[in-house]
Amino acid sequence: MEVEQIESRSWIEGRIKEEEINKFLENGKDFIPDAEIEEKLAANRKPDSAYIHDILQKSLAIQTLTPDETAALMHVTDPGVLQAMREAALAVKKKVYDNRIVTFAPLYLGNYCVNNCSYCGFKVSNLDAKRHVLSQEEIRKEVEALAGRIGHKRLILVFGEHPMNDVDYMVESMKTVYAIKVETRHGTGNIRRVNVNAAPLAIAELKRLNQIGIGTYQVFQETYHHETYARVHPAGTLKAHYAWRLYCMHRALEAGIDDVGIGALFGLYDWKFEVMGLLYHAWELERKCGVGPHTVSFPRLEPAFHTSINATSPYKVSNEDFLKLLTVIRLAIPYAGMIITARERPEIRRQALNLGITQMDASTKIGIGAYSSDQAEQTEDIQQFMLGDTRSLEEVIRELAQMGYITSFCTAGYRCGRTGECIMELLRSGKEGKFCKLNAVLTFREWLDDFKSDAAKTMGEHVIEREIQEIRQQMPSIYPKFMEYYERIKRGERDLYF
Ligand code: SAM
Ligand code: SF4
Repeated sequence: MEVEQIESRSWIEGRIKEEEINKFLENGKDFIPDAEIEEKLAANRKPDSAYIHDILQKSLAIQTLTPDETAALMHVTDPGVLQAMREAALAVKKKVYDNRIVTFAPLYLGNYCVNNCSYCGFKVSNLDAKRHVLSQEEIRKEVEALAGRIGHKRLILVFGEHPMNDVDYMVESMKTVYAIKVETRHGTGNIRRVNVNAAPLAIAELKRLNQIGIGTYQVFQETYHHETYARVHPAGTLKAHYAWRLYCMHRALEAGIDDVGIGALFGLYDWKFEVMGLLYHAWELERKCGVGPHTVSFPRLEPAFHTSINATSPYKVSNEDFLKLLTVIRLAIPYAGMIITARERPEIRRQALNLGITQMDASTKIGIGAYSSDQAEQTEDIQQFMLGDTRSLEEVIRELAQMGYITSFCTAGYRCGRTGECIMELLRSGKEGKFCKLNAVLTFREWLDDFKSDAAKTMGEHVIEREIQEIRQQMPSIYPKFMEYYERIKRGERDLYF
């Protein structure tokens, strides 16, 4: 144990590269001006409805809102105006991403961590936590279950921050995941997009992840409020360094990773401040790097093993405020994907879908090694927090179909170079939504044929028929090529995309 601790300590030293922060600072300052944010929130307490109406027109034109506009939206209380905001949010989502919902699964690779975040079950001071890091063989079993039995095509690999989960391990794990092919009923199951949620990395490390074909690199700032950040991330830990984390997306973009995902852990500080933080982050990336966030995440604080902050925090976000903040994020950063995870209960996820969510996980398990062990119950000593939605992928797909959405397993974007500045233009102009629609149908067809028995396919067939009719009407020039791909997929070919 002592040797382990010494090894961790020497690994921690030298991880943070100040020169990879300082070069992005302006006049020595980061881009989150706490006092200015509080001022803007105070100044926009009583927005009039004509102003809100103008703001909604701007969102519908897929333009990023200003901090003042975003602050104004958050203070709307009039039920009629709130309803107009919700309708605009859904219209924005449909314009940018059509009516597809992309699905994925998280895969937790280990729960060792050198940090001590007050809200997380993996914190180093949790001596009762059962710790494990998956071997490559164990990863193979997990992926066989996810891609071969459940039918996922997209994973997010989740790592604690620890020498056992260092960049060498990340690279090896990603290679393992991409290499696995599992026979299915009519084709092959494999993971086609590997996203990563990990601690902030240095530019040279990020370049290595890019070479392996990372999809999105996701890091949540947790809280943008400097003082709160310092309180929940004890001094002396790696994670205590606010700016190292804040600038990790600048480094990722410099390293060539075009798709970056930002997020805040809601419940640590005032939710309105955190929404402003996310907006300032998006603006900064647009301005300095030419590319805004590919996705925005908004985990809400959940109960976790031996943590009390979930019960004691004065900033816990009510369901009503949570749905409002989703609406505002949708309107403020209209081009970004929005991810709601199985932390939330089904009824909240259902309501969130109609506010412009674009991605959700399903069949989710977050215990280490849980997919292949068939462990039915959640066990808090090996998972980061407790889940709110443990429904299967099939149940989620059925519900999405009933709500008028098509589930998409599309992973085409980054493989066709539709990332970075190019994707920004496609998203803002609504052109990307057309690719979304085509690829949703092709990948949903694959899933139905590979993972559903003929008897159970009916609900999916209705969805596909409707989408094909819409494609014929809306995209007559692409329709013949699309139908050629569709027929080839029906005959057993796989992974054809636009
Ligand atoms: N260790 C890496 C880090 O902290 O960036 C990445 C993995 S961490 C397991 C992924 C995310 O889970 C964190 O960024 C945090 O937002 C979220 N999280 C941690 N504890 C949570 C809790 N109790 N409830 C909900 N989300 C939580
Ligand atoms: Fe470690 Fe991440 Fe959990 Fe913090 S949130 S203790 S860094 S795994």
